[in-house]
Amino acid sequence: MAYNQVNINTALPGPAQSRILIVYTGGTFGMVRNKDGALMPFDFSRILEHLPTLKNLYLDLTVISFADPIDSSNIQPPHWQMIGQIIFEHYHQHDGFVVLHGTDTMSFTASALSFMLQGLTKPVILTGAQLPISEPRSDARENLITSLEIAAAKKSGKPLVPEVCVFFDYELLRGNRSKKVESRHFDAFESSNYPALAKAGVAIDYNFPAIHVPRAGRAFKLRSNFNDQVAVLKLFPGINEAAVSAVLATQGLQALVIETFGSGNAPALGWLKKLLTTVINRGVLVLNITQCGGGRVEQGKYETSLWLKEIGVTSGADMTVEAAITKLMILLGEQGLEKTKQLIGKPLAGELTA
Ligand code: ASP
Repeated sequence: MAYNQVNINTALPGPAQSRILIVYTGGTFGMVRNKDGALMPFDFSRILEHLPTLKNLYLDLTVISFADPIDSSNIQPPHWQMIGQIIFEHYHQHDGFVVLHGTDTMSFTASALSFMLQGLTKPVILTGAQLPISEPRSDARENLITSLEIAAAKKSGKPLVPEVCVFFDYELLRGNRSKKVESRHFDAFESSNYPALAKAGVAIDYNFPAIHVPRAGRAFKLRSNFNDQVAVLKLFPGINEAAVSAVLATQGLQALVIETFGSGNAPALGWLKKLLTTVINRGVLVLNITQCGGGRVEQGKYETSLWLKEIGVTSGADMTVEAAITKLMILLGEQGLEKTKQLIGKPLAGELTA
């Protein structure tokens, strides 16, 4: 995959206060209207024309743009590998990173990056917009400016937010706890099971007790092997045996996320129990994630979840489905099935509360 790189120093002729890398992947954020009124991706090297106030931040920006910016519904693991590789290669020369991304799959990408970038000690902030930057009421300008400010923020020489985050509509969320919940209004993301890491008002108020503190001496590493032998089965009242059998018969299946009701409950149907028991005995990892936005799986709280525990379904605790899928793909790709079974229920990047 190709990309273009430009340098934009907004501090000149003075010294820059921080060096930030922006990765522009596409999405609504960077759309402008052409002379016929149609929306098309803009040339990011001309960002200062759209956002002259960037000059007030005194930043030395490296901007890497996908040669063909994409709608984030087209995101695939090779794009995550490319974003991860770009951050990895530019890690030591920069103070922080901002990834401009479509909102549709932003939480998947943020989750994937949180598992890929091990030993991260610098901010990686994903942001985007609901309205293109060319529109007068666009949220793109505020989202980008504040993301840059957060990516550059330090105290006693240390970055304030050394994690992968989503910044959107005045809130900074842990990336692997975030979820897109709204397609029309500006407050597109939520993190029901973990508090916001910061709120941007007149000042940016950081929630320091909630922000991850990196372990000293841990080397920064990139993990980027994905295994896509993963499937999701969303339960609903009336789901039929043929549909479930088709998903479970997926060739090469190594891990299955079942999206259950409430605190991890599923209908106590004989055929469902039989089908799930057969795949578990075949070695497939079956992970229980609740369909509820907030709360957690508690297998055994009700009879309707006790049977799942008894047949060997693993609890996904309070993980989002976005975090669960990307964590499975990276663990299977990097460590294999047996290690994945041991690690899936443990917090690796703040994505679950044990
Ligand atoms: N479909 C767009 C995308 O995710 C929506 C957006 O950017 O908000 O790329």
